[in-house]
Amino acid sequence: MHEDLIEEAAELLNPVDVGGRLFGNVASVLVTETGTHHGGVCIDTGSGTGFCAEAAAIAAMVTGGERRIARIVAVRRDPATGELAVLPPCGRCRLFISQMHPANHETVVVLGLEDAATIDQLVPRSDRPDPLPSRFTRPVNPDGASALT
Ligand SMILES: [Zn+2]
Repeated sequence: MHEDLIEEAAELLNPVDVGGRLFGNVASVLVTETGTHHGGVCIDTGSGTGFCAEAAAIAAMVTGGERRIARIVAVRRDPATGELAVLPPCGRCRLFISQMHPANHETVVVLGLEDAATIDQLVPRSDRPDPLPSRFTRPVNPDGASALT
């Protein structure tokens, strides 16, 4: 069911060891609502400055003028065995996908050849909540700061 996208992502893998850090050892491909494919790889740099393959693919998509993701996958190949695995997105990427477009709660995240879940399933209860009842409402100053100190 998802073999095409998994194979496409695997083609982007290009691991390079840079001072003990791996660049390009995880690759992602996404399909937008218009059917356009975008890909990217991870860059693992120090002090949290790197980014996931999904983020790279999403940046390419936004560069192309789209934000709605229909389907996305990330893969990694074990350097010792050559085995290919589908990686579920990390928590940050799950939120990142959901925040790209309101309809991305329906984005299909590929988790295996025949396995997938929607962002709604992977990030439950992430919708912006309704305000509490009016008894919790307080006047605000004209500059928007709360009147309460
Ligand atoms: Zn991630």
